[in-house]
Amino acid sequence: MTSTTTAPRSATGSVALRGVTKVYGHGDQAVLALDEVSLDVEPGEFVCLVGASGCGKSTLLNLVAGLDGVSGGRIELGHGVNPGLMFQESALFPWLTVEANVEVPLRLRRLPRAERRAKVAELLRTVHLADFGRKRPHQLSGGMRQRVALARTLALDTPVLLMDEPFGALDAMTRDILHDELERIWSERKLTVLFVTHNVREAARLADRIILLSSRPGRIIWSTRVDVPRPRRIDSPEVATIAAEVTDRLRTEVGRHGQ
Ligand code: ADP
Ligand code: MG
Repeated sequence: MTSTTTAPRSATGSVALRGVTKVYGHGDQAVLALDEVSLDVEPGEFVCLVGASGCGKSTLLNLVAGLDGVSGGRIELGHGVNPGLMFQESALFPWLTVEANVEVPLRLRRLPRAERRAKVAELLRTVHLADFGRKRPHQLSGGMRQRVALARTLALDTPVLLMDEPFGALDAMTRDILHDELERIWSERKLTVLFVTHNVREAARLADRIILLSSRPGRIIWSTRVDVPRPRRIDSPEVATIAAEVTDRLRTEVGRHGQ
């Protein structure tokens, strides 16, 4: 099994997949989750991955995050880059305050106490939760918990953000606000974002480029650049046109599998 490699020649913030294959299990039980997926994400690019449930989107993010090893091919990140990963559930520590949750990566990075305090305050301001530092996760709404999770991921100070349906459990209004916030933070910090969603409108709202994965095995079957000027609105005709095109492609793909 080849593991995730960090190639010194890759630019900071770039993500490259070279013929990445992932097989789960062995023998009769083997599942080919990803089949020779190749993809180049530019530093600062916002890429959305869409595809039917079970097509390997989470697998791909987990491999880039280094949570699991590839079965074939390789993944190249900038030298020393450890991507941050966010999920649909905020995965906050329930017994810690908001501040303490955001502080965890800073402790792991061994930042001195005063610096940690200043950084936590700055990050909470960034996600518009400056007044909620002393609350605990259960005292917050789902949208606020995802803001905390985002602040905690930003505390890693990594140029690469991996997001696995991070707003999938939120209502449309909250999601809309978080799209604006994420777009602002992405552009201010010049982050590279690899964002998984099965919501085509969300993809068209956020992405520089949308990539469509086929189902079992997961392969890249289509991609498109989204040249709609920013800031965008999810209900704008331009975004709707792109979303309709992606939906058509998805329908064709799902239909091909008789699901
Ligand atoms: P998606 O995120 O697109 O819904 P996943 O990446 O979670 O898809 O899963 C891709 C395929 O790999 C699915 O068929 C799933 O059942 C299988 N799979 C995912 N994780 C594992 C695992 N740990 N062991 C075995 N099979 C898995
Ligand atoms: Mg998934």
